[in-house]
Amino acid sequence: MKNILLIGTGGTIASGVTAEGLAPELSSEELLRQVPGISKICRVDCRQLFAIDSTNMTPKHWVELAHTIHREYENYDGFVITHGTDTMAYTAAALSYLIQNSRKPIVLTGAQKPIGFETTDSRMNMTDAFLCATQDMPGVQIVFNGKVIIGSRACKTHSKSFQAFSSINYPYLAVLQDGRLLRYISHAPTEPVRFYDQLNERVGVLKLIPGMQTDVLDYLLEKNDAVIIESFGVGGLPSYDYADFYACIRRHTKKGKLVVMTTQVSNEGSDLAVYHVGHRLKSETGVLEAYDMTTEAVVAKVMWILAQTTDFEEVRKRFYTPVACDLLYN
Ligand code: ASP
Repeated sequence: MKNILLIGTGGTIASGVTAEGLAPELSSEELLRQVPGISKICRVDCRQLFAIDSTNMTPKHWVELAHTIHREYENYDGFVITHGTDTMAYTAAALSYLIQNSRKPIVLTGAQKPIGFETTDSRMNMTDAFLCATQDMPGVQIVFNGKVIIGSRACKTHSKSFQAFSSINYPYLAVLQDGRLLRYISHAPTEPVRFYDQLNERVGVLKLIPGMQTDVLDYLLEKNDAVIIESFGVGGLPSYDYADFYACIRRHTKKGKLVVMTTQVSNEGSDLAVYHVGHRLKSETGVLEAYDMTTEAVVAKVMWILAQTTDFEEVRKRFYTPVACDLLYN
């Protein structure tokens, strides 16, 4: 029987009803006890790392999660992390960069309804997660509502339905039906597993709205080492007579700040070359482009890269090098 480490972090799945709304209460042992069928799938050890709503997750928590898996990597065949759904896609993306080429499954799951509720997705998601963690399903993934999503491509797209996550610009790795795993894609890392333990948290995101002034971008670039701009459609920046985004970005990239252009449209990614409003952006300002990567992945990738180097050419090279299938098109 396979040995799996269950790492509890909180979230709805482990929450109880309090006078001030749902809050994490159950330990990982208590969670496991609620799904006795798991003992037929594998042997489980429990570790309670945090007991927080995932709204309170920070990059420091991501590093601690990666560190725990690093320490225990040789002792287990796979890992299940129970986690709040709200920022699970960010954690999955971050772990995809912090733990690369893992042959062992690292499975994140959670639920939209607490495990103590009569109608809940908790039990099914837990069972499916353990099932995947015992299979030859390498690397970081989210298992949720019968779908297996590679960690670098997940996005929370429904705030209430059980089908909370989508796989963006990439197919599901597998689906689960009545306890059976049907695999669509197999990944087999060829390099040895590699762990990283640092992230640069000075990364901001700006969602463009029509008529926006440059002062917000200016402020974000003052405060951070990198800013990701979610622009419209395939991408571009406005040039109003009162706001010159090109000049603003040029001023900051000259000082070594990094700007990445992405899109606020959830599917199909950016392509700055298409329109006049974006065509000259890369050559004139030195911005990078996210293409088909998710914003969650870009945030985590930039934090991971900037923790290792600030040399622009090296940053550029690493940004456009695919990691864990995060990028297909460039
Ligand atoms: N607010 C909760 C969390 O992210 C939502 C959930 O787990 O579904 O921790």
